[in-house]
Amino acid sequence: MPSVFYEEVRCKRLLLRLTVPHLPFRWAANPYRGCRHPCSYCYARGSHQYRGHQGGQEMEQRVVIKVNAAAVLRAEVSQPDWGGELIALGGACDPYQPAELKYRVTQGMLAVALELGQPCWLSTRATLVLRDLDLLAALARRGLAQVSLRLSSLREPVWRHVEPEAAPPMKRLAALERLAQAGVPAGVLLAPILPDLTDDPAALEELVRLAVEHGASFLGGNLPALRPGSREWALPLLREQCPHLVRQYARQYRGPFDPAAYGAGVLALVGELRCKYGLPESPVSAPAPRRMGQLRLGL
Ligand code: SF4
Repeated sequence: MPSVFYEEVRCKRLLLRLTVPHLPFRWAANPYRGCRHPCSYCYARGSHQYRGHQGGQEMEQRVVIKVNAAAVLRAEVSQPDWGGELIALGGACDPYQPAELKYRVTQGMLAVALELGQPCWLSTRATLVLRDLDLLAALARRGLAQVSLRLSSLREPVWRHVEPEAAPPMKRLAALERLAQAGVPAGVLLAPILPDLTDDPAALEELVRLAVEHGASFLGGNLPALRPGSREWALPLLREQCPHLVRQYARQYRGPFDPAAYGAGVLALVGELRCKYGLPESPVSAPAPRRMGQLRLGL
């Protein structure tokens, strides 16, 4: 594995308004830029490129640490006009990537969320999330936390191709179980769902069945977006590791998204699995937007 350059920065702003439809949140706050998990189809490689860095390998070899993120989050959610909406911690990075072990930026942000009554959502491929189990359980007791474990496949050759440095899927499912046992609303995000790699209905159902056995209380699914910065990375890797799929992907991913009919079919399948296993898309008790003044009354 190539070495990584960690760059510590002090950010001026953190909260980012998202324009992606169909998400259960409209705001994100990223503790890091770049991600040490070199997922082959990472959608965030494009945003790394956009910020003046190169996409591709630089996404995982140059990780920017927003060392003052907790302080900036505190300042931003303390503004009188902040509506107290759910914030995704991470999104363009994994909030529990290896840098978090040393820098604890995500942990600091969670502490601020607990102090200020700020609801948050985390999604990760890392079992390091369990280090913050007590903090997440304290947030969950007040309806302020929900965690998604991202999973692609149980088949080792597949997940090693898609998410080579992520924790093995059974370890992620064990982490899910510990979160659920601690009272943290925890679910699974099937991501990415890829044609002829991770979209087999029986394999997806097996994953969902195991997730339910491990306490999952909600289920989502994501198709990859191969935007510039991501596709130049993903397609050569595919050529190297799954050459039999190259022509199909070149046809299917002429633009950043899969053709609408394919995407609709996959999302319908995830919907059927949700129905069959009685899982909502996000926790029923997902915190609704409230004014911070109201939230603080609950302290
Ligand atoms: S964990 Fe998420 S942000 Fe990190 S490389 Fe994988 S897909 Fe990208």
